[in-house]
Order: sequence, then structure tokens, then C-alpha cells
Amino acid sequence: MLLHDTHFHLDLFPNPEEMVSIIEKAKIYTIAVTNSPSVFFYTKRITSASKYIKPALGLHPELASQRKKEIKQFLELIDETRYIGEIGLDNLNKTSDDYLIQKQIFETILRACADKRNKILTIHSRKASKDVISMIGNNYPGKVILHWYSGGAKELEKAIKNGYYFSINYSMTISESGKKIIEQIPIERILIETDGPFTVFSEKPSTPELSEQIFVNIKRIKKVTYDFLSPNFKSLISNFQFESDKNKL
Ligand SMILES: [Zn+2]
Repeated sequence: MLLHDTHFHLDLFPNPEEMVSIIEKAKIYTIAVTNSPSVFFYTKRITSASKYIKPALGLHPELASQRKKEIKQFLELIDETRYIGEIGLDNLNKTSDDYLIQKQIFETILRACADKRNKILTIHSRKASKDVISMIGNNYPGKVILHWYSGGAKELEKAIKNGYYFSINYSMTISESGKKIIEQIPIERILIETDGPFTVFSEKPSTPELSEQIFVNIKRIKKVTYDFLSPNFKSLISNFQFESDKNKL
């Protein structure tokens, strides 16, 4: 079974190098997202010998206005990895100026990644799912993962129609709103994330090792018993662009 964690903040743990060996030993495919281009090199360096961890280039929406100058560095580094994140929009208690800058940065990143045609994007959309979905659109030339989706049912339906994936974390599997979202997502679009250290399990920051428990919880919610993780992860990393899914919808 291809256990995976498609949204993990490796560099925010107290001892990232030790965490790398834990993940390697556990054989869990992990996308190590970063919040700004300046920390991407560190993550790339400590994961260079890793089979299971892929460093992702990101510019977190909550840092976008403060670090907007780093967009230049982001664009320079874009060919260093196929994985992009954490990027997106966040409109929880933001000023309209801040949100506007976020949108400009997100648009620039989306366009640059679209030109490359093979990127896998892990995207934040808190209180901004409508804008995120309309900016990505229904014909995006790359793989889109909405991480920790918490928006409305109507937008969710649209995101499903658009062919996006959804990464589910432990918190989502135990909250009523999260369970409702999981019920609505087709099984073949579900991926696993921990978003550690921003989520906790047994009072400790979540690590990719939690992915198995999240899988168990999702199986219970979806009332399935088979391994959907392996085919989903394989289709995520393949170059295939959802053609079969589009025909179904
Ligand atoms: Zn995150």
C-alpha cells in the first residue's frame, strides 16, 4: 500500500533531519511543503538522498503580502521541483489590501506552473475556496490538490467537477463538517495529509506516521474496505491529466 502524506511541513519540526530518517524507515511518500522560497533550499538539501520525501516550493498566502518580493526567487526556482506548495489564498481576518496581494501572487504562481504543465500543486483555501476554484478553473494543466478543504458544498461540487484532488487530515476525519466533506468527495480523489505540525494527535504534532490512522478513519466514513490510496497516489504522480474522470463527470 502506498501510504503517503501530501502536505507536511518538515522544516517546521524541531529536528527535520531526524524526521527524514523516521519517514524513510516508515516508507511513507511525503510532499514536504515549504512556506517561502528562502527555506526551499534547506528542505531540498536535507531530502536529497531520500526516496520517499519530495521537497515542494511554496509561498504561503499568509506570508504573501509580507514576502511578496520572494516571488522573483520562486519563479527562479520553479524548475527545481515538480511539487508546488504551500500556495493559495487565505481570507480569514485579512484586510482587502492583503487579500489583493495574495491574489496577485497566487495568479502569478498558477500561470508559471501552468506553463510547465507537469506540476503537482498543494493549495490552501481557507475562507477563500470560491476564489481559489475560479482562479484555477476547470482546465488546469497540472495536478491540483485542495489541502484541508473547509469551504461550502457548492464550491466542493465545482472543485470535484474540475478534477481536483483533496487531501484529508486527521482533524477532518473527526469533525462533523469534515466528515460531511469527506462523504461528498469521490473515493478516487482522496489523498492523505497530516499538515503537521499544524495539527496534533495525542497532544503531539502530527507526522506522516499518522497517515495509516487517517486511512482507517476515511475507510470508516466512506464505508469501504479496499486500498484506494495506492491507485490514487499513482494517478496523482502520473502525467495523466484526469481525462477519464472528465468523461465520467
Ligand atoms: Zn500547511
